[in-house]
Amino acid sequence: MLGLMQDWPLLIHRLIDHAAIQHPSRKIVSRSVEGPIHRTDYAGLRARSLRLAKRLAREGIAEGDRVATLAWNTWRHLEAWYGITGIGAIYHTVNPRLFADQIAWILNHAESRLVLADLTFVPLLEQLAPRLPHIRRYVILTDAAHMPQTSLPNAVPYEEWLAESDGDYAWHSLDERSAAGLCYTSGTTGDPKGVLYSHRSNVLHAMTMIAADMFGLNARDVVMPVVPMFHANCWSLPFSAPAAGAALVMPGAKLDGASVHELLEAEGVTFSAAVPTIWMMLLQHLRSSGGRLSTMQRVAIGGSACPPALTESYQNDYGVKVLHAWGMTETSPVGTLCYTKPEVAHLEGQAALDLQRTQGPPPFTVELKITDDAGAPLPWDGRTFGRLKVRGPTVTAAYFKVDPAGMLDAEGFFDTGDVATIDQNGYMEITDRSKDVIKSGGEWISSIALENIAVAHPDVAEAAVVAIPHPKWDERPLLLVVPKTGATPTKEALLRFLSDKVAKWWLPDDVIVVEELPHTATGKLLKTKLREAYRNHTPP
Ligand code: ADP
Repeated sequence: MLGLMQDWPLLIHRLIDHAAIQHPSRKIVSRSVEGPIHRTDYAGLRARSLRLAKRLAREGIAEGDRVATLAWNTWRHLEAWYGITGIGAIYHTVNPRLFADQIAWILNHAESRLVLADLTFVPLLEQLAPRLPHIRRYVILTDAAHMPQTSLPNAVPYEEWLAESDGDYAWHSLDERSAAGLCYTSGTTGDPKGVLYSHRSNVLHAMTMIAADMFGLNARDVVMPVVPMFHANCWSLPFSAPAAGAALVMPGAKLDGASVHELLEAEGVTFSAAVPTIWMMLLQHLRSSGGRLSTMQRVAIGGSACPPALTESYQNDYGVKVLHAWGMTETSPVGTLCYTKPEVAHLEGQAALDLQRTQGPPPFTVELKITDDAGAPLPWDGRTFGRLKVRGPTVTAAYFKVDPAGMLDAEGFFDTGDVATIDQNGYMEITDRSKDVIKSGGEWISSIALENIAVAHPDVAEAAVVAIPHPKWDERPLLLVVPKTGATPTKEALLRFLSDKVAKWWLPDDVIVVEELPHTATGKLLKTKLREAYRNHTPP
């Protein structure tokens, strides 16, 4: 027997409808790519999204079509997501920091028909356009006054193109399982893979992330997503903030410490989210400028491991609570977040910080397990490492245009490619990506654990640990460090610093001081490049 409650499909337009009705004047502030600060609100965002939906329909964009965005976080990018999904088309966020060849590959694989691009990316697209046969029009996210001369075929300035329609339009009604968004993983190994979100998965994820023990968003919050909209669905914030009625501050193209700090203070931001690199940059700026964070309450940090030293600085020196989160493009993206269960509420000082080194338990909607290579479940003892697998309505079941055979195990779990422990209380800790873990004499050494300790050394700004081949042990760890400005850390001092914090056989075979470390398009350490560069390194 079916229940007798209303069938109200979980469609993305309901989020912006709710915000526009219940929180119409809640501000949406953006640093525009052209320069000035732009202000609108949820009523304004909804009205322009409807106009865009109508304009896209007039352009011939139909349900299921992909519309690509190469854009920073601004109000225009938000209206793109709502306008595109509002007619049943699919927003396809392209990470502009990828290699040009990868971008062309991704646009062709997605067969995106129209591109919405910020001014910043016009030169890149001009270079790629001859290789992009599916794209019929380039809409440049600016007005006629700022429109550059361009060789792009059918290029128009967004504002004038949009003005050709009015906002008298109705959202399409769809099956809630319809595709809504497409985001490719950066593919540091092999071709990029497209994760295809549905309306339902995005709405469920937005509701999940609002929960008190997750981001805990509410109508008094002022939320600044520093994590780009092209990175893993922007951690749900373009959906969860309107659902909660929270204000939005969009940082545009300027993501340096000083620019981020200026907006945080000027707009009274209470919650923000980004990868550790961004928060390290902001910290350096705060330290050198003597700046404070007068309104920030919580900051979500994830995408790569958040070093305890960073957590400690934000919490103790600036009074900002750190929410360490784990996730991936394939999980919408947040899969776990380190919140406080009553079982651990008594922890204080170092013990509390140690707990925050973990990525925490999953929310309702995500199930976790760790298994050995054969798929047998491993114990939750906080020590045993295993392959991390996840299941739930916000986890991918297949990649776009790829045969799904073998994608999930017999119980429907997806193998994340991460190696993790889970403790008795359900707190998960990423030990490594399976390809980054150092396999020494049949045992595993966690590169992340060594990096976390190395960056706690007062002379170290950033650290990377990678495997180097070893004739007897197979692989051994090599530590690379970037010194803080003016500091000169030595190999001996660093090894001494590590020696009472890890098992002796975990100590790196060598330490190299470098000026900088390579990063991926999403700001993570590019370990494939480091492994390649130091493949033949023989420690003294
Ligand atoms: P990519 O980095 O491949 O472009 P994702 O952004 O989807 O794609 O990255 C997901 C991966 O990032 C995870 O599988 C995990 O290895 C890593 N990751 C994410 N958050 C954390 C975290 N808090 N600690 C450690 N690793 C993390």
